[in-house]
Amino acid sequence: MKELEERIRKDGRVLGKDVLKVDSFLNHQVDPMLMEKMGEEFYNHFKDAGINKILTVESSGIAPAVMTGLQFHVPVVFARKHKSVTLTDDLYTSEVYSFTKKTSNHISIDKRYLSSDDKVLIIDDFLANGQAVNGLDTIIEDAGATLAGIGIVIEKSFQKGRQLIDKSGIPIYSLARIKAFENGQVVFQDEED
Ligand code: 5GP
Repeated sequence: MKELEERIRKDGRVLGKDVLKVDSFLNHQVDPMLMEKMGEEFYNHFKDAGINKILTVESSGIAPAVMTGLQFHVPVVFARKHKSVTLTDDLYTSEVYSFTKKTSNHISIDKRYLSSDDKVLIIDDFLANGQAVNGLDTIIEDAGATLAGIGIVIEKSFQKGRQLIDKSGIPIYSLARIKAFENGQVVFQDEED
Protein backbone atom coordinates (compact mmCIF):
# COMPACT_ATOMS: atom_id res chain seq x y z
CA MET A 1 0.00 0.00 0.00
CA LYS A 2 1.85 3.01 -1.38
CA GLU A 3 0.26 5.59 0.92
CA LEU A 4 1.29 3.59 4.00
CA GLU A 5 4.86 3.18 2.74
CA GLU A 6 5.09 6.93 2.17
CA ARG A 7 3.75 7.60 5.65
CA ILE A 8 6.26 5.20 7.20
CA ARG A 9 9.05 6.94 5.30
CA LYS A 10 7.87 10.35 6.43
CA ASP A 11 6.96 9.68 10.08
CA GLY A 12 8.55 6.35 11.08
CA ARG A 13 11.63 6.24 13.29
CA VAL A 14 13.96 3.26 13.33
CA LEU A 15 15.10 2.33 16.85
CA GLY A 16 18.11 0.07 17.18
CA LYS A 17 18.35 -2.65 14.58
CA ASP A 18 14.81 -4.02 14.50
CA VAL A 19 12.15 -1.70 15.93
CA LEU A 20 10.08 0.84 14.02
CA LYS A 21 8.22 3.57 15.89
CA VAL A 22 5.07 4.82 14.24
CA ASP A 23 3.46 6.60 17.18
CA SER A 24 2.18 9.49 15.09
CA PHE A 25 -0.37 7.46 13.09
CA LEU A 26 -0.72 3.92 14.49
CA ASN A 27 0.59 3.20 17.99
CA HIS A 28 -0.33 6.31 19.98
CA GLN A 29 -1.97 8.98 17.84
CA VAL A 30 -4.17 7.27 15.25
CA ASP A 31 -4.92 8.54 11.73
CA PRO A 32 -8.51 7.40 11.12
CA MET A 33 -8.45 8.28 7.41
CA LEU A 34 -5.42 6.06 6.86
CA MET A 35 -7.02 3.33 9.03
CA GLU A 36 -10.14 3.49 6.86
CA LYS A 37 -8.07 2.89 3.72
CA MET A 38 -6.32 -0.02 5.45
CA GLY A 39 -9.71 -1.55 6.26
CA GLU A 40 -10.68 -1.25 2.58
CA GLU A 41 -7.42 -2.90 1.47
CA PHE A 42 -7.89 -5.84 3.83
CA TYR A 43 -11.51 -6.17 2.76
CA ASN A 44 -10.67 -6.17 -0.96
CA HIS A 45 -8.06 -8.84 -0.39
CA PHE A 46 -10.08 -11.18 1.84
CA LYS A 47 -13.68 -10.44 0.78
CA ASP A 48 -14.26 -13.89 -0.76
CA ALA A 49 -12.88 -15.85 2.20
CA GLY A 50 -16.18 -16.14 4.07
CA ILE A 51 -14.94 -14.16 7.10
CA ASN A 52 -17.50 -13.64 9.87
CA LYS A 53 -15.21 -12.42 12.68
CA ILE A 54 -12.08 -10.28 13.07
CA LEU A 55 -9.61 -11.06 15.86
CA THR A 56 -6.78 -8.90 17.16
CA VAL A 57 -4.79 -8.19 20.34
CA GLU A 58 -5.12 -5.04 22.44
CA SER A 59 -4.23 -2.30 22.04
CA SER A 60 -2.59 -1.31 18.77
CA GLY A 61 -4.37 -3.91 16.66
CA ILE A 62 -7.78 -2.50 17.57
CA ALA A 63 -7.86 0.53 15.25
CA PRO A 64 -7.05 -1.31 11.98
CA ALA A 65 -9.18 -4.29 13.09
CA VAL A 66 -12.27 -2.16 13.73
CA MET A 67 -11.91 -0.43 10.37
CA THR A 68 -11.66 -3.84 8.71
CA GLY A 69 -14.69 -5.13 10.63
CA LEU A 70 -16.61 -2.09 9.43
CA GLN A 71 -15.94 -3.05 5.81
CA PHE A 72 -16.93 -6.70 6.36
CA HIS A 73 -19.86 -5.77 8.65
CA VAL A 74 -18.72 -8.38 11.17
CA PRO A 75 -17.81 -8.19 14.89
CA VAL A 76 -14.26 -7.46 16.04
CA VAL A 77 -12.88 -9.22 19.13
CA PHE A 78 -9.64 -8.16 20.77
CA ALA A 79 -7.72 -10.53 23.01
CA ARG A 80 -6.89 -9.02 26.38
CA LYS A 81 -3.39 -9.08 27.84
CA HIS A 82 -2.76 -10.14 31.45
CA LYS A 83 0.35 -10.76 33.50
CA SER A 84 -1.21 -14.02 34.67
CA VAL A 85 -4.59 -15.68 34.47
CA THR A 86 -6.23 -17.52 37.35
CA LEU A 87 -9.90 -18.11 36.67
CA THR A 88 -9.83 -19.55 33.15
CA ASP A 89 -13.08 -21.53 32.93
CA ASP A 90 -14.80 -18.93 30.80
CA LEU A 91 -11.71 -17.97 28.79
CA TYR A 92 -9.58 -19.24 25.97
CA THR A 93 -5.99 -18.33 26.86
CA SER A 94 -2.48 -18.61 25.47
CA GLU A 95 0.95 -17.26 26.27
CA VAL A 96 2.66 -14.66 24.09
CA TYR A 97 6.21 -13.36 24.36
CA SER A 98 6.16 -9.64 23.63
CA PHE A 99 8.76 -8.57 21.08
CA THR A 100 8.78 -4.94 22.19
CA LYS A 101 8.45 -5.43 25.98
CA LYS A 102 10.62 -8.58 26.20
CA THR A 103 8.20 -10.19 28.67
CA SER A 104 5.59 -12.94 28.50
CA ASN A 105 1.92 -12.11 28.74
CA HIS A 106 -1.16 -14.23 28.72
CA ILE A 107 -3.81 -13.26 26.21
CA SER A 108 -7.40 -14.29 26.60
CA ILE A 109 -10.74 -14.22 24.85
CA ASP A 110 -14.08 -14.82 26.54
CA LYS A 111 -15.60 -18.09 25.28
CA ARG A 112 -18.84 -16.27 24.47
CA TYR A 113 -17.13 -14.38 21.65
CA LEU A 114 -15.49 -17.20 19.68
CA SER A 115 -16.97 -20.51 18.58
CA SER A 116 -16.70 -23.30 16.03
CA ASP A 117 -19.04 -21.32 13.75
CA ASP A 118 -16.42 -18.62 13.29
CA LYS A 119 -14.26 -18.10 10.22
CA VAL A 120 -11.65 -15.68 11.47
CA LEU A 121 -9.43 -13.00 9.98
CA ILE A 122 -6.56 -11.98 12.28
CA ILE A 123 -5.51 -8.33 11.98
CA ASP A 124 -2.45 -6.93 13.75
CA ASP A 125 -0.35 -3.79 13.60
CA PHE A 126 3.08 -5.46 13.28
CA LEU A 127 4.49 -8.85 12.40
CA ALA A 128 7.92 -9.56 13.89
CA ASN A 129 8.57 -13.11 15.10
CA GLY A 130 4.95 -14.22 14.84
CA GLN A 131 4.28 -14.69 18.57
CA ALA A 132 1.08 -12.66 18.70
CA VAL A 133 -0.35 -14.40 15.60
CA ASN A 134 0.67 -17.76 17.02
CA GLY A 135 -1.06 -17.03 20.35
CA LEU A 136 -4.26 -16.05 18.54
CA ASP A 137 -4.04 -19.15 16.36
CA THR A 138 -3.84 -21.34 19.49
CA ILE A 139 -6.99 -19.71 20.83
CA ILE A 140 -8.78 -20.14 17.47
CA GLU A 141 -7.89 -23.86 17.50
CA ASP A 142 -9.06 -24.26 21.10
CA ALA A 143 -12.39 -22.72 20.16
CA GLY A 144 -12.74 -25.05 17.15
CA ALA A 145 -12.95 -21.97 14.91
CA THR A 146 -11.26 -21.64 11.50
CA LEU A 147 -8.41 -19.28 10.71
CA ALA A 148 -9.08 -18.03 7.18
CA GLY A 149 -6.39 -15.37 6.85
CA ILE A 150 -3.96 -12.95 8.46
CA GLY A 151 -3.79 -9.23 7.68
CA ILE A 152 -0.77 -7.28 8.91
CA VAL A 153 -0.29 -3.52 8.72
CA ILE A 154 3.54 -3.52 8.88
CA GLU A 155 5.52 -6.70 8.33
CA LYS A 156 9.23 -6.80 9.12
CA SER A 157 10.01 -9.51 6.59
CA PHE A 158 13.55 -9.98 7.88
CA GLN A 159 12.24 -11.45 11.17
CA LYS A 160 10.89 -14.96 11.64
CA GLY A 161 7.12 -14.43 11.56
CA ARG A 162 6.56 -14.25 7.80
CA GLN A 163 8.46 -17.47 7.13
CA LEU A 164 6.55 -19.32 9.85
CA ILE A 165 3.20 -18.23 8.46
CA ASP A 166 4.20 -19.06 4.87
CA LYS A 167 5.18 -22.53 6.07
CA SER A 168 1.79 -23.02 7.73
CA GLY A 169 0.01 -22.25 4.44
CA ILE A 170 -2.39 -19.71 6.01
CA PRO A 171 -3.08 -16.85 3.59
CA ILE A 172 -1.30 -13.67 4.69
CA TYR A 173 -1.51 -10.13 3.33
CA SER A 174 0.71 -7.34 4.64
CA LEU A 175 0.10 -3.73 3.65
CA ALA A 176 3.76 -2.76 4.01
CA ARG A 177 6.63 -5.23 3.87
CA ILE A 178 9.96 -4.07 5.24
CA LYS A 179 12.98 -5.86 3.85
CA ALA A 180 15.59 -4.19 6.06
CA PHE A 181 16.61 -1.19 8.08
CA GLU A 182 19.75 0.31 6.56
CA ASN A 183 21.52 3.19 8.29
CA GLY A 184 18.32 4.08 10.13
CA GLN A 185 16.29 4.07 6.87
CA VAL A 186 13.46 1.74 5.90
CA VAL A 187 13.91 -0.42 2.79
CA PHE A 188 10.69 -1.96 1.49
CA GLN A 189 10.42 -5.43 -0.03
CA ASP A 190 9.09 -4.17 -3.35
CA GLU A 191 11.92 -1.68 -3.91
CA GLU A 192 14.56 -2.26 -6.57
CA ASP A 193 18.04 -2.84 -5.19
P1 5GP B 1 5.52 -10.70 17.10
O1 5GP B 1 4.51 -11.26 18.03
O2 5GP B 1 5.21 -10.97 15.65
O3 5GP B 1 6.92 -11.09 17.45
O4 5GP B 1 5.48 -9.13 17.28
C1 5GP B 1 4.31 -8.46 16.94
C2 5GP B 1 3.80 -7.61 18.07
O5 5GP B 1 4.87 -6.89 18.70
C3 5GP B 1 2.85 -6.57 17.50
O6 5GP B 1 1.56 -6.83 18.00
C4 5GP B 1 3.38 -5.24 17.96
O7 5GP B 1 2.58 -4.75 19.01
C5 5GP B 1 4.76 -5.50 18.52
N1 5GP B 1 5.85 -5.09 17.58
C6 5GP B 1 6.73 -5.92 16.97
N2 5GP B 1 7.65 -5.23 16.29
C7 5GP B 1 7.33 -3.92 16.43
C8 5GP B 1 7.92 -2.70 15.94
O8 5GP B 1 8.94 -2.67 15.22
N3 5GP B 1 7.30 -1.54 16.32
C9 5GP B 1 6.18 -1.52 17.10
N4 5GP B 1 5.66 -0.32 17.39
N5 5GP B 1 5.62 -2.65 17.59
C10 5GP B 1 6.18 -3.84 17.26
